[in-house]
Amino acid sequence: MSTIRFKAVNKTFDRKPLPIDVTGKRSEIFGANVFNELVMRQVMSNEAFKSVMSAIEGGMKIDRKLADEIASAMKNWAITKGATHYTHWFQPLTGATAEKHDSFFEPINNSQAVEKFGGHQLVQQEPDASSFPHGGIRNTFEARGYTAWDPTSPAFVYGTTLCIPTVFVSYTGEALDNKAPLLRALQAVDNAATEVARYFDKSVSKVNATLGWEQEYFLIDKALAYSRPDIVLAGRTLLGHSPAKGQQLDDHYFGSIPDRVLNFMRELENDCVKLGIPVKTRHNEVAPNQFELAPLFEEANLAVDHNSLLMDLMDKTADKHNFKVLFHEKPFVGVNGSGKHNNWSLATNNGTNLLSPGTTPTKNLQFLTFFINTIKAVHDNEDLIRASVASATNDHRLGAGEAPPSVISVFIGSQLTKVLDELEDVSKGKLSPQEKTDLKLNVVGKIPEILLDNTDRNRTSSFAFTGNKFEFRAVGSKSNCAKPMTVLNTIVAKQLKEFKNEVDELIEKKNLKKDEAIFNVLREYIKASKKIRFEGDGYSLAWEKEAEKRGLSNSKNTPQALKAVVSKKAIDLYEEMGVMNSVEIIARQEIELEEYAHKIQIEGRVLGDIARNHVIPTAIKYQNTLIQNVKGLKEVFGSDFKKLAPEQIDLIEEISNHISEINSKVKFMIEERKSANKLEKAQLKAEAYCNKVLPYFEQIRYHCDKLELLVDDNIWPLTKYRELLFTK
Ligand code: ADP
Ligand code: MG
Repeated sequence: MSTIRFKAVNKTFDRKPLPIDVTGKRSEIFGANVFNELVMRQVMSNEAFKSVMSAIEGGMKIDRKLADEIASAMKNWAITKGATHYTHWFQPLTGATAEKHDSFFEPINNSQAVEKFGGHQLVQQEPDASSFPHGGIRNTFEARGYTAWDPTSPAFVYGTTLCIPTVFVSYTGEALDNKAPLLRALQAVDNAATEVARYFDKSVSKVNATLGWEQEYFLIDKALAYSRPDIVLAGRTLLGHSPAKGQQLDDHYFGSIPDRVLNFMRELENDCVKLGIPVKTRHNEVAPNQFELAPLFEEANLAVDHNSLLMDLMDKTADKHNFKVLFHEKPFVGVNGSGKHNNWSLATNNGTNLLSPGTTPTKNLQFLTFFINTIKAVHDNEDLIRASVASATNDHRLGAGEAPPSVISVFIGSQLTKVLDELEDVSKGKLSPQEKTDLKLNVVGKIPEILLDNTDRNRTSSFAFTGNKFEFRAVGSKSNCAKPMTVLNTIVAKQLKEFKNEVDELIEKKNLKKDEAIFNVLREYIKASKKIRFEGDGYSLAWEKEAEKRGLSNSKNTPQALKAVVSKKAIDLYEEMGVMNSVEIIARQEIELEEYAHKIQIEGRVLGDIARNHVIPTAIKYQNTLIQNVKGLKEVFGSDFKKLAPEQIDLIEEISNHISEINSKVKFMIEERKSANKLEKAQLKAEAYCNKVLPYFEQIRYHCDKLELLVDDNIWPLTKYRELLFTK
């Protein structure tokens, strides 16, 4: 009983909720560690403050002299918060966040030193970041990368470090991170949506995309998690038989939160609030030891940063509380996986949610405009939407019959469907007075009531309208929201730009009134985007068949899904909207394909190692015990022993069969890996890993899991599902 498994299990028996120091009202500590507007007003000259605000609101450049002043104010404030270092905090294409800490401390001679932080250190840095993925962009010496301050996301003190959110770009201007394209996409949607919003309200001067993410995760006892090589190296279990009890009793969902977990959550939330992350809800999720945390929605760039920061903070806080947090989309088979729903909308500088109907017919037409344009955008670019959530880890979840399918469809509920059906009949060209009255009273006028009692929810839809926002449900729990947000905002920007052109043309050339022109264009969009709308069960096989008939794409894996990203259509779109150029797009796709292949490669190695070095030796050990037993029976009972040991003899044979299956499958898998590694093209390599290597995982697992059921529990080396999932 000396295996790491039992040591880990024993450890969990002594676990107590960790005492935490969480006092005071959240409203009082909200943003305490953030260099926000309020702080800036207090610690900067009026001129410097105004310059930062105009950089935030209008993207104006900050003057060098003022940058020095801002940096100095930032540093002094950070020091009062306990900061000794600063870092340009950025999001390289690994999907995580990166930071390299530099000290404020600077000796001026051998007996004196000062705390220094100037404008140029604030605005631009050159991290020695040659090891971040760049997809060939930085192959030349000239094309080094630098980080540049993003003033739209406020600096914050995290631990003892002042973190300055930055973009990471090459000297030739190509984005090397997730933030730069996101900022460009947000700019594009701002431009296009502002123009359209001004049809309804001339005072609109800016439109922000809003994002409210919902983060699902598993929380596993640290000792148990670290006892499993697969969890440590791949973030998920590659083996493990389902426990007798899973989630079938639904007794975890919204249940009372265990004390140890609650203390973790309270400390985490407390730190989040100090960092300005407006965390709001927490609850148990469907699977055992699965939880969810969601904030109030925010401007999308800030929300993306906050999600990245949260994931980092969760890791650290969990560790302190003797947990390991699993962000993997599918850490365990047989129970639900985790997602990160992205609730998205557009809001004007006046605070109007453009996906929310108002009290006047005009406001309702505004709602319809943004609502229908979004549907049309998703319709026209469903393949890009799908690709934006593609990853080796999310592949286990999409289409697994419990999570959004890999087919992208839009759910709007039966009542809004009726509204769109009626709008489809709006007659072409000029509307008669009667038609206008009808539209006003019976269609557009009814929308607010409809949405008030719109309780329609469809949990099986990948892209659902939920009252005053769209909820993109296919995003993986591990992914950086920047990717789906970049795509969504880009396609909506493009769509709104087109809409504006079409409406203006009808007004100018056909002499239509504005409302008539809008109705005319919307009517065509409703017709043209019908096939993306689906109200039924998105998890059903029938829908897959129906989707195929409709000509919707259904990319079941990442290598296939990512093809859409480099299509001519996609490159034209990104270039037109100024979000990415072809070099950036191709580089990104290559990075993602490489990452995919690496992930499967690592998993394959880990699986081979566990199967051969843990499972097989244990099975042989147990088999030897059985053989000893049979031998003993033979010694004692002579030729009668067979009658006494039929089960043992069967077991001995069964174990041998599983062992030989595992051995041969592992051998084949290794051969396939070798062949895959020889392929040079990223696409082909990823496909080989997907189609040739990955299928062995399930086969190897099958035999290992059978052995788990056969072998004496006392010597099984791998921590079992019941221990991982039901230890609180
Ligand atoms: P649910 O959709 O689960 O019923 P809510 O309606 O409360 O729950 O919203 C869920 C999430 O949607 C929250 O994280 C919230 O911040 C976000 N959300 C609400 N309104 C918006 C909006 N206008 N833009 C973006 N996200 C939003
Ligand atoms: Mg939700």
